[in-house]
Amino acid sequence: MLKLDNHPTGRHFLQIPGPSPVPDRILRAISLPTIDHRGPEFGVLGLKVLAGIRQIFQTRHPVAIYPASGTGAWEAALVNTLSAGDLVLMFETGHFASLWQKLAARLGLETEFIAGQGTDEHLPHAAGWRRGVDANLIEARLRKDVERRIKAVCVVHNETSTGVTSDIAAVRRAIDAAGHPALLMVDTISGLGSADYRHDEWGVDVSVGGSQKGLMLPPGISFNALSPRALDSMKTATLPRSFWAWDEIVAMNADGYWPTTPNTNLLYGLSEAIDMLLAEGLPQVFARHQRWAAGVRAAVTAWGLPIQCADPAVYSPVLTGVITPAGVDADALRRLIHSRFDLSLGTGLGKLKGRMFRMGHLGDSNDLTLVAMVAGVEMGLKLAGVKLAASGVHAAMDHFAANTQETTT
Ligand SMILES: *Cc1c(COP(=O)(O)O)cnc(C)c1O
Repeated sequence: MLKLDNHPTGRHFLQIPGPSPVPDRILRAISLPTIDHRGPEFGVLGLKVLAGIRQIFQTRHPVAIYPASGTGAWEAALVNTLSAGDLVLMFETGHFASLWQKLAARLGLETEFIAGQGTDEHLPHAAGWRRGVDANLIEARLRKDVERRIKAVCVVHNETSTGVTSDIAAVRRAIDAAGHPALLMVDTISGLGSADYRHDEWGVDVSVGGSQKGLMLPPGISFNALSPRALDSMKTATLPRSFWAWDEIVAMNADGYWPTTPNTNLLYGLSEAIDMLLAEGLPQVFARHQRWAAGVRAAVTAWGLPIQCADPAVYSPVLTGVITPAGVDADALRRLIHSRFDLSLGTGLGKLKGRMFRMGHLGDSNDLTLVAMVAGVEMGLKLAGVKLAASGVHAAMDHFAANTQETTT
């Protein structure tokens, strides 16, 4: 098996914020034989996952499932609802928001990219990448749009490049306060299944999700949760679409089937993941991630290093970004940690390249796995010559030992 043959002993620590580790139970489900995707058994599976995924998005409305990575579902959200030249308002929270903006521009949409305001001592070139979406800026921009040229507002819920989880309900309130008809589209690719997310309650028109993060699946499927208004906008939207078109998918989904060959084995995995998440209970899942994140942040704080997210109100429960001291190349540090301790950390993306690394704490994990991750990072920092204020490992252990109760939100 290629390079995996000389893999070290023990289990690799896959601590990037997606793909996240896939539980054995899900791997076993995926290994079942591929069945006839037009046969009777398949319809049962299809109806089950379509009903289950609605519960995960907290919606009563249809969810389209694509055999594609998250990027495909980004494109699907735009081509089903918009026409060439439409103006889309997007918010620059980080690298993923920037990629979605580029994708929109390539589709022939006009994009306006709002950046957060303020300055930053550590990363002056990326000040807006340390905070969440500023709903006031969105409201002010929408109020100025008297001609109603803006057709959609697009924001990232959990910005995976920075570790910032924006307040989506506040964005909906901003749109409503401005009395603006724009659709609200949200990327929750890395939030879904880890951070609280409420498609219906928050008035989201299209929510974009992916398989390989909080849902604990391998990469390969992605989602569009829809609102009735989003489905309606298909009637007037003229961007070309065929494979991504919601109407044919939603129509065939009524019986649990798809117009094209679905990703059968990943759907077995999805069925298992939904069972696991719902058996635990979504409030418990979200509380577990919040508790883990607080423990990892305790470690970073003990080290005396800055957390990438500068606003405690929007700390991500999914991952924590850490800014390395000036002169310490975060990617060299990551490579050192990978080669010495078989631990994968997330790289600094885009404007953050070399200046920070990301620790994932999502999905199929536990206290000891996270303590081990913190230990690997701490050893790497010491080897790289970084002076640490105190032991992050002890801080994380103290946090996990002292906080046994998983309180529900
Ligand atoms: C991972 C991720 C993406 C990209 O998804 P792919 O599956 O790599 O196409 C987009 N947005 C966010 C917030 C992500 O975390």
